[in-house]
Amino acid sequence: MHSFLFSNGEHGLHREERSSASSQELARLFDKAKVCRNCSLAASRLNVVFGEGDPLAEIAVIGEAPGAEEDASGRPFTGRSGQLLDKILEAAGFSRQEVYICNILKCRPPGNRNPLKDEIRSCMPLLLEQLQIVRPKVILILGKVAANTIFENSLSLGAIRGKMKAWRGFDCCCTFHPAAVLRNPRLKKEWMEDMQLMTDHCETLGRKKNARENEN
Ligand code: SF4
Repeated sequence: MHSFLFSNGEHGLHREERSSASSQELARLFDKAKVCRNCSLAASRLNVVFGEGDPLAEIAVIGEAPGAEEDASGRPFTGRSGQLLDKILEAAGFSRQEVYICNILKCRPPGNRNPLKDEIRSCMPLLLEQLQIVRPKVILILGKVAANTIFENSLSLGAIRGKMKAWRGFDCCCTFHPAAVLRNPRLKKEWMEDMQLMTDHCETLGRKKNARENEN
């Protein structure tokens, strides 16, 4: 675990209480998502893939939409992509359990096609509510489609990655989707660079926070 995590002096009971409250809020939102029919993907889904992880995670990981394995299991980032994501998170010092993982869309687009504009418009409120509950310090955005959707542009991933970007009050780091790295292992070097960028940023945030606390 990285030292910036839980560096705000909030240990023990107080964190447990906040974690329990956040879990309950997420469970309430999940119940709402399970019966959501706000777009046509409700008709073809097997499961709503809501998200999972630490309800007070300091890092949220966001992909574009569930694939076939996620649709079948109801869990985000399973299968080979998920295993690779777990490995890169571990290499950067984070376990899957201490981040919060979800997608922009909660239901699988048929044939894994890209999300459509009306699907994104329909599903974005769920993502925003999840983020308001978890309140991560940093968001790791996986893949060009997710990055283009969040930043509402059509830039290449090469033009977006390599720097922190602000979105709705969150600090975001964009990198390759694990499926892209599985297809092209040469992307691993840049992937590691992006993870380092995110880790360095987290540590800077932790240092600033500690300095503020020491002043008070
Ligand atoms: S993708 Fe989102 S908006 Fe569409 S049905 Fe599923 S939960 Fe509802």
